[in-house]
Amino acid sequence: MEAAIRVLLVEDDTNLATRLAEALEAAGFVVDRAEDGDTGWYMGDTGTYDAAVLDLGLPRLPGLEVLARWRRAGRSLPVLILSARGTWSERVEGLNAGADDYLGKPFHAAEVAARLRSLIRRAAGTIQPVLRLGAIAFDQAAGRVSVDGQDVELTAQEQKLLFHLMSRPGRIVSQGDLAEHLYAMDDVRDSNTIEVFIGRLRKKLGRDAIRTVRGLGYRMG
Ligand code: CA
Repeated sequence: MEAAIRVLLVEDDTNLATRLAEALEAAGFVVDRAEDGDTGWYMGDTGTYDAAVLDLGLPRLPGLEVLARWRRAGRSLPVLILSARGTWSERVEGLNAGADDYLGKPFHAAEVAARLRSLIRRAAGTIQPVLRLGAIAFDQAAGRVSVDGQDVELTAQEQKLLFHLMSRPGRIVSQGDLAEHLYAMDDVRDSNTIEVFIGRLRKKLGRDAIRTVRGLGYRMG
């Protein structure tokens, strides 16, 4: 059986979101919903989705900022922006921020479904690169990490941390930056916890895999 297509719908208009979710589910999608930008950002950052439908006018975090944060963190899921304020400049702004498509309100749910299918097809044609650094390989699409070809079991949090370091080879990443990526939801900034995670990663990947740059942070490569 074909795996269901999972879509994240970030829209604060409950009626609209309900109608759209029902239409998308009827079209065969599995839909998760968020009604504010902060929750939507977190779900997109930590969950596995084939695409997101993102409203621009959102409480707590504007849609464009949600999108920009996903892109800065290397989240490449296709994003279809919905907006009531369908001005030309806003459309350009959305596409510049990393949106894959843009639809002005009002719209037909059938069109959202069609555009999502097309975005997902297009995304499937682009290969997600396997990150490599020395003996370590991180296959993002499969969520698999190996050292010298041997698979290593990592928790989701460890994977997030590793991805953040590996996608910035040779650069120093501060503890605060890492904490922000791990605990964005509840605003925890506990550097001790980061040290614990780094310790576990070293145990699994090799002691020298991650270097400590005293007083500044960590570095890979
Ligand atoms: Ca809105």
